[in-house]
Amino acid sequence: MPKARETVLEIDLKALKHNFDYLKSKLKKNTKILAVVKAFAYGSDPVTIATYLETLGINYFAVAYVHEGVALRDAGIKTPILVLHPQAVNFKTLIERCLEPSLYSSRVLNEFINIASETKQTDYPVHIKFNTGLNRLGFLENDIDHIGSILNKTSAVKVKSLFSHMAASEDLSETEFTKNQIKSFIKISEVFKNTIGYQPLLHMSNTSGIINYPEAHFDMVRTGIGLYGFGNSESENKKLQPIATLKSVISQIHSIEPDETVGYNRAYKSSGYEKTATIPIGHADGIGRQYGNGKGFVTIHGKKAPIVGNVCMDMIMVNVSDIDCQEGDEVIIFGKHPSAALFAQTAQTISYEIITAISQRVKRCYIGH
Ligand SMILES: *Cc1c(COP(=O)(O)O)cnc(C)c1O
Repeated sequence: MPKARETVLEIDLKALKHNFDYLKSKLKKNTKILAVVKAFAYGSDPVTIATYLETLGINYFAVAYVHEGVALRDAGIKTPILVLHPQAVNFKTLIERCLEPSLYSSRVLNEFINIASETKQTDYPVHIKFNTGLNRLGFLENDIDHIGSILNKTSAVKVKSLFSHMAASEDLSETEFTKNQIKSFIKISEVFKNTIGYQPLLHMSNTSGIINYPEAHFDMVRTGIGLYGFGNSESENKKLQPIATLKSVISQIHSIEPDETVGYNRAYKSSGYEKTATIPIGHADGIGRQYGNGKGFVTIHGKKAPIVGNVCMDMIMVNVSDIDCQEGDEVIIFGKHPSAALFAQTAQTISYEIITAISQRVKRCYIGH
C-alpha cells in the first residue's frame, strides 16, 4: 500500500468486491442487489463505487436525493437508480435523468403523477414506500385503496416496486418487532397486488436485514453499510472489510515541558515532559470536536496516540510521548485496524456517522482495481 504524504482517504476496491461477494453469498440465486450509494457512497466516492459495482453486475442503485442521482447519470451510470427521498421541486429533473422516485404519501404521489402526465410519460417506473413501524416515511396499510384509486386512473406511472424499511434490524433484542414489520409488509404486498392487478418487486432488508432476516430478502435487498465493510455486529464485522482507510502524516513534533498547554483554549495541560505530533486533519475534514480531549486516537507505527486538547479546523495534536516517530511518518485515523466503528465508539457514535462525515476536502485515492 502506498504511504500517505498528505491526508487521504484510500479506497480499496478489492475490499468492496469481497463485501459484495460475501453479501451475495447470503442470498438466493435470483435475489437482486440494490447498492445504496447515497451521501457520496457513505463518504467514499459514488462514481468510482457505482462504476465498479456495475462491473460486478449490480442490479440497482439508490440515492437519497435527486442531485445525487444526476451526478451518477453525468458519470455515465446506466443502471436503474431509486431516489429514496426526492423533493417534488426536482421531479422534472428526476424524469429527464431517468431516475426513479420513492413515493411515500398521497401528496408526493399526486404531484409526481401530475408531472409525469404533463411530460407525457407512460408507465414511468415508481416505487411505493410503506411505513411498517419506523415512522419516518411511507404510506400505511389503510392507504392502499386510495393509492389504488389514484394509480388505476393513470397510465403515466407503473409501480416497479413496493418497499419498506426496518427500524431495528441490527438489534436482536427487537426481533419480535422486526418480525411483525415483515408480517405486516407481506400482508400489505398481497392486498396491494390485488388492488393494482400486477406484482411489483418487493424489498425490505438493509444490510442487517440481509444478515439477520433471510425470510425478508424478498425479490431484492438494499445494502449500504455492508458494502463499505461494516455489519453491525462483531462477528459480521470480521467477515467484511472496511473499504476506506483515512491516513495522514506527521507535520511537526513538539517537546512539551511540564505544565505547558497544547492547542486552543489551552485545553490540554501536560503533566510532565511530553511529546506531541501535529497532524493535518481537523473538524473541517470531518473529525468533529467530540473526538478531542483524549477521546479519539490515531495510530502511528501500530501504537495508539490520543488526541490532546481541542480539535482545530485543519489540525489535531496527538500524544506521541511513547512512540518512536518522526515528521513525515504515516498516521492511520481509521481503516482495517482500527476500524471506523472503533474510532466512532470513542465519541459515542457509529461507523455510519464518521465515514459519511469525511469531507470533500480530503483527497480520495484508490487501490485494488
Ligand atoms: C440508507 C438506507 C438503506 C441502507 O441501509 P444500510 O444499513 O446501510 O445497509 C436501505 N434502505 C433505506 C430506505 C435507506 O434509507
